[in-house]
Amino acid sequence: MPGCENRYYDYLIKEGMRVANIYEDLGVPIVINAAGTATRLGGPPLSNVVMEAMAKAGEASVYIEDLQTQAALLIREVTGAESGLVTSGASAGLTLAAAACMAGLDGARMRQLPDSRGIPNEILIARSPRNAYDRALTLAGAKLIDVGIDDWAAGAGVRGIEPDVFAESITDKTAAIFYLARRDDRMNLRALVAVARRFGIPVIVDAAAQLPPRENLRRFIEEGADLVVFSGGKAICGPQGTGILCGKQELVASAAVQMVDLDVPWEAWNPPRLLFPKEALRGMPYHGVGRGFKVSKEEIVGLMVALRRFVDAEGLHDQWVDHLRRIAGKVEGLAGVDQVRLVLDAPTPLLQIKLDEASLKRSPWEISTSLRYANPRIAFNEQLLHQGVFIVNPISLRPGDGDLVVQGLAKELANNLRQLN
Ligand SMILES: *Cc1c(COP(=O)(O)O)cnc(C)c1O
Repeated sequence: MPGCENRYYDYLIKEGMRVANIYEDLGVPIVINAAGTATRLGGPPLSNVVMEAMAKAGEASVYIEDLQTQAALLIREVTGAESGLVTSGASAGLTLAAAACMAGLDGARMRQLPDSRGIPNEILIARSPRNAYDRALTLAGAKLIDVGIDDWAAGAGVRGIEPDVFAESITDKTAAIFYLARRDDRMNLRALVAVARRFGIPVIVDAAAQLPPRENLRRFIEEGADLVVFSGGKAICGPQGTGILCGKQELVASAAVQMVDLDVPWEAWNPPRLLFPKEALRGMPYHGVGRGFKVSKEEIVGLMVALRRFVDAEGLHDQWVDHLRRIAGKVEGLAGVDQVRLVLDAPTPLLQIKLDEASLKRSPWEISTSLRYANPRIAFNEQLLHQGVFIVNPISLRPGDGDLVVQGLAKELANNLRQLN
């Protein structure tokens, strides 16, 4: 099979079969994943290097504080941040970031959250782009304060949200400023950080989906963010249930303390000080708001191995493009397909397949639904379905999956062609 010699594909179809067999045993159909790294699909398949590391991690017990500290050192190295923590996903990382900005190292505040009465609890957030993950911040007890008017995004004018409008909303109740990292963002993070620094307010950056490019691991920290979250289960291809929170040592430590199991006698607790600065802690919560966000030793190890691979991997982009080109070559000219376009000006290359809707009996939604539950199940990225476009994201495709995508699509289209009269 072409492409099997690639390093990135070293888990090969052999691993794919192993995965397929366990799911077959359980009676769960596997999905050919052309949608990308979606959580609802369990994220990308793991490389066997990551899976083996996770299996080995399961062979012994360790103090989670020791393991998280080694992870912190690795995260520090690859992000340039003072410290880091493996979280149970970027969303949990946001909740912990909000909790850290509200409580700092104050144990009494940690005990009180998510009840944030009497604690600076307001997080300023640009009115656009509000998104569904904002909820992760309020989960810790924070209150979101909408800031600015985005005429540019609304198509009503040329002005977007300007960093200076944040200054007008900062009060003694402000706990943090939130910034959603986007590739096409017009608000400059450095300028926002400059405003925040004038008032001593930390900036939290949601960069969950901003990898690749891998340079972004360092970028937001370099630009002055105090806390940054990344998803471990997206392009890093770590265990799906992981994420990274990195940034200022004291804030990351606050997050760590609010996440770990604290059923330990204070006198007998002697963890490494980077994440657990015992002397600086003013009291200790029982279990913090993040206690439900536990990350297993296997997941922490898996994330560490995947992160190292992600940083070291060469030629990933070219391999993705190759895979997409092979698919494009087979989809072009299929009855029911209007246009095939390779999108290369994005960190993750994509293939757009535009259906010839006039020649089809069913709508793109119906066709997509049918493919979702076909045998094998095939999931596309549906972001442009309203334009009749199926998007193929290569990140989660295993070698050989491209052919299954083509076969499934061809069969589905053939079944739905209008009769010519
Ligand atoms: C995916 C995503 C998240 C959540 O990441 P998880 O690791 O799945 O928790 C948060 N914010 C944004 C912008 C995302 O795209």
